[in-house]
Amino acid sequence: MSQKPEKATEEDKKKRRHKQRTKRTITRAVTHIRLIEANPGKLAALDQMMAVYLPICQRYVILFCTAETPPDKYGDPVFESELSDRLHRVAMQQAAGIAKSWRTNRENAYQAYLEDVADYVQAKAKAEAEDRMSAFKRTEPTWNEWHVPVLRVPVIQANANVVVVEQSKDSTFDYWLRVSTLDKGTPLRVPVKLASYHKQVLKERTINTSTTLHKRNGVWWLTLSCDEDVPLQTEPSAPVVGVDVGIAHFITTSTNKEYGSFHGKMARQHKRDREKRRRKAKLRACLEKKGASADKLPSTSSASGQRLSRHVKQEINRAVNELITDHPDARLIYEDLNVASMRFKARSMNAYLYASNLAHIPEQLAWAAGQRGMAAHTVWAAYSSQECPRCHFVDRANRPNQKTFKCVVCGYEDHADHKAAVTLAGRWGIGNWRLAATKGRSRRSF
Ligand SMILES: [Zn+2]
Repeated sequence: MSQKPEKATEEDKKKRRHKQRTKRTITRAVTHIRLIEANPGKLAALDQMMAVYLPICQRYVILFCTAETPPDKYGDPVFESELSDRLHRVAMQQAAGIAKSWRTNRENAYQAYLEDVADYVQAKAKAEAEDRMSAFKRTEPTWNEWHVPVLRVPVIQANANVVVVEQSKDSTFDYWLRVSTLDKGTPLRVPVKLASYHKQVLKERTINTSTTLHKRNGVWWLTLSCDEDVPLQTEPSAPVVGVDVGIAHFITTSTNKEYGSFHGKMARQHKRDREKRRRKAKLRACLEKKGASADKLPSTSSASGQRLSRHVKQEINRAVNELITDHPDARLIYEDLNVASMRFKARSMNAYLYASNLAHIPEQLAWAAGQRGMAAHTVWAAYSSQECPRCHFVDRANRPNQKTFKCVVCGYEDHADHKAAVTLAGRWGIGNWRLAATKGRSRRSF
């Protein structure tokens, strides 16, 4: 079985640090390559392998999600399986990845719930102290335990130990995939033919060793990925621009510009969507009482909610592009947001939904800057909204309301989001290891 890679030596780390200053590596995924050139018999072997692979992967997902300790993809296998050692390891790695993000998301949601409870308890105590419990209408937040993820789509996130991509020698096909199957020692060879669109993307780029195979609607699909080094274009003397992320404006810069907003049309759409879902849920409960059969009940899943979320992301991407167009030669400094600070920024109804969309802003910033070879750095986010940029006094009282910053010590006054962007810009390059961290890699699919 594969061993845990050795720890990077100090020298390796130094090398890597140096690399980050001159170029950025971005990973591009080339998706939707249809495996239709292979004969059905070959793909049946893939189906057979998947029939064993997926249940094993699922068992590890359950194990890793419910275990006390964090998932260890290099740990000893615990389930018996027909899979080769290599495939078994890949299944463990895939499951560990799924479990890791599930655990993080669940933990964040649970922390959000605890905050809500604390907020509720405080509000209730206040109402009791002021003797106005008759008007206290809030209900205590409840926690519904999350279900462990169920793997529905047959998918294998492979590495070179189990799937090898080989350049084709003749011109009929572009590549051959060598896939490990249940039949040990006889790997499956699947021809791959690229569409001109894929060829364009892969032109002058080198494919890396991670591949994904998945089956949807009876068809097998391949995803290849390639790394690309983008030379850093930003001059050392480039102007430093602080970027604050928020709800009223997706982005506010230290140069006093604003881009995009959750408010207005998008917030109204979101509200309508919620009301519609609530009405449907009510109707459903009513019909259920009357004994209507399950397939006649209205669905409470939210296709429009997903549509809205996609729309928000598009608007965020647009805002980031506008920011970059306006500041092509800048060094961008933005917040290293964690979910707690995002929730703080998203303080309102549906904070969690807002927070999840807010998280797309720094991701998109990292990606868009990386792709252009533009320097972008994250800095410590905490108290950036409360710290005075003039005298550095930090206090919640510096924020008399959501829009305003007014230092209670020196009297410095500014629009709150602009002030935060200025503070962030000032935090870069202070030389404090805690304040400056660069993000070297960003990932994105086509
Ligand atoms: Zn001050």
